[in-house]
Amino acid sequence: MRNDKVGFIGLGNMGGRMTRRLVDAGMPVLGFDTDPSRAAACGATAAGSVREVVQDCDVVLMSLPDSNVVEAVVEGADGVLAHSRAGQTVIDLSTAAASSTQRLHGLFRDKGVHYIDAGISGGAAAAEKGTLTLMIGGDAQAVEAIRWVFQPFSTKALHMGASGAGHTTKLLNNFLNAVSLAATAEVMVAGKKAGLDLHQLLDVLNSSSGVNFATQNRFPHIVDGNYLEGGLTSKLMTKDVVLYVDLAHELGVASLNASGPLSCFGLATALGYGDKISNRVVDAIGDVSGGIRLKDAGH
Ligand code: NAD
Repeated sequence: MRNDKVGFIGLGNMGGRMTRRLVDAGMPVLGFDTDPSRAAACGATAAGSVREVVQDCDVVLMSLPDSNVVEAVVEGADGVLAHSRAGQTVIDLSTAAASSTQRLHGLFRDKGVHYIDAGISGGAAAAEKGTLTLMIGGDAQAVEAIRWVFQPFSTKALHMGASGAGHTTKLLNNFLNAVSLAATAEVMVAGKKAGLDLHQLLDVLNSSSGVNFATQNRFPHIVDGNYLEGGLTSKLMTKDVVLYVDLAHELGVASLNASGPLSCFGLATALGYGDKISNRVVDAIGDVSGGIRLKDAGH
């Protein structure tokens, strides 16, 4: 219901921006993050603990780094599960392992709590504009009943199926994102070393078969020195690819294309770019290709 009280756990790059959208849409948010400065920065009322959020709110949203953190926050002694009550809805907007999500769904179902997984796509810019795409898994009735809470930050919210289907869809998408970003970064460094005009190279790629999200939306900014900081880091990108490989393994699918992005984002992390936006992978490849930067200093 539109008047239900909303809580948010994990107010980082994505959670903070989604919270800001909810608050600006007239839905006050009780927020908790282990970094106490986060709540005020995104307009939430700061809660002192996970327990406070769960006890006070009807709907609890989470945007946390990975399944390990989600499991700790949900199953911890003073966690979401322990304090949840029948009729509540808990939504995991993190990029997480579907198998973990399905297990938690079972634990919540035993208490009469709706547990919904919602992968989000579009990055920080879409979160800020309220144009995220959501890939949702969970019981159909519970998903339909909660759509109102997605509206302030999403323009497309697709119910993909039962619990775990949202997170599965998200991992498939992110794997393609990782492959195309890593491959495009390498091509751009090669183009630079070959002496090509990079704006012209992008123009050609974007009207040829090499076109992808990175050529269209990332590199036109990166070649001008704007790395679009604030989005998914190389560490989180690596996590997403590892989750994809686990999923492929569980499904019995040969995962033949993961080595490229795992090497590239692993290299970025090893060279000190792990906590920066994953677009910095182009600098990591540049570093080991003779110190190449797409934009020359002073130009
Ligand atoms: P982030 O690191 O900026 O935010 C995570 C937040 O969780 C941080 O503020 C951190 O302090 C908080 N946190 C960690 N442990 C906690 C705990 N135990 N209790 C409460 N808060 C805790 O990460 P992000 O970029 O906002 O990503 C969040 C999730 O969304 C990740 O699963 C990521 O893969 C996914 N995602 C990110 C993007 C993106 O572009 N950044 C896009 C789609 C999906």
